[in-house]
Amino acid sequence: MARDYYGILGVAQGATDQEIKRAYRKLARELHPDVNPDAEDQFKEVTTAYEVLSDPEKRRIVDAGGDPLSGPGAGGFGGDPFGGGGLGDIFQTFFGGGGGGFGGGGGRGPRGRVRPGEPALVGVTLTLDEVAEGARKEITVDTAILCDSCTGSGTRDDSKPVTCGTCKGAGEIQSVQRSFLGQVMTVRECPECRGAGETIPDPCLKCGGDGRVRSRRTMTVKIPAGVQDGMRVRLTGQGEVGPGGGPAGDLYVEVSEAADDVFVRDGDDLHCTVRVPMVDAALGGEVEVETVLGSTATVTIEAGTQPGTVVRVRGHGMPHLNTGMRGDLHAHLEVVVPRKVDTAQTDLLRKLRSALDDGIEVVTASSKSASGGLFSKLRNAFVGR
Ligand SMILES: [Zn+2]
Ligand SMILES: [Zn+2]
Repeated sequence: MARDYYGILGVAQGATDQEIKRAYRKLARELHPDVNPDAEDQFKEVTTAYEVLSDPEKRRIVDAGGDPLSGPGAGGFGGDPFGGGGLGDIFQTFFGGGGGGFGGGGGRGPRGRVRPGEPALVGVTLTLDEVAEGARKEITVDTAILCDSCTGSGTRDDSKPVTCGTCKGAGEIQSVQRSFLGQVMTVRECPECRGAGETIPDPCLKCGGDGRVRSRRTMTVKIPAGVQDGMRVRLTGQGEVGPGGGPAGDLYVEVSEAADDVFVRDGDDLHCTVRVPMVDAALGGEVEVETVLGSTATVTIEAGTQPGTVVRVRGHGMPHLNTGMRGDLHAHLEVVVPRKVDTAQTDLLRKLRSALDDGIEVVTASSKSASGGLFSKLRNAFVGR
């Protein structure tokens, strides 16, 4: 809402600068906070009105029915009444903003019917083995393709497009509107030809004049070995054909990696968990782990292995995308204590206990025997062994 600045000062709209100044001085003397502490708000209002009407630019806006202090970013006195970027916002509204390519600025005119197509995106899911080996995957793509009936022209048989009668070929329609800014010229896309500048009186029966039709097709895409989850493979020119049979955009195939039952992938490295019975942890042993690309890693469990130990086997991870060099396998050893032991086993364990001469104790910070506890596990996880 535009405020009535003239009314606040009690002057007529046609008042001269002198009359405005005189009216303000009179009111300011009466309402000044030193004189009249209760009228502080009124004093501010009067001062604001005077600041506006004594500024020719602001007064012009008021006279046009606007309010120079209500625009976006409008703030204190003496500044740009529209604030930074205020005008930009307004014109963006007029022209519909970015996006569609029918923005403000120079170089407008008919855009023609033939325009480049949009990119398309499809997803494909690969198992860990497929990622390791690289894969050829069949994908189904649903995009616009060139209309084979008119080969993109959009016209039926030998008919030809004609200049648009609504915009006379300009592709846009201009109109002038009065606003508080003065006269504002707005330009919008011609609704008849949608900016093309020409229309097709006798359109192709198959595509209705668009020059393209939707089509579902299957194709095989080659995914290189070592891709990471979320990566995209680009197939140039396999996306959407543009309006009027314009050149197709690109097709992007986004790779998702299916969760594996055994391994967790971390870049080029693989992690797995190996359960080691208590006795094997004490005596040592080894286990074979089948990883990817048909390789078998031998995980050696040293005698006296502690819970949480991670054994690294070099070169048994995933192949690197570019070099093919393989990462490592990290086997996380989980030492398992038997949940139940029979009488004979209990006897054996008791004998072992007395032979070891090892007791249960509370671990102190300085204790060198700290092993198997939560802290030890954490430490192992950080140190990597
Ligand atoms: Zn038109
Ligand atoms: Zn057609």
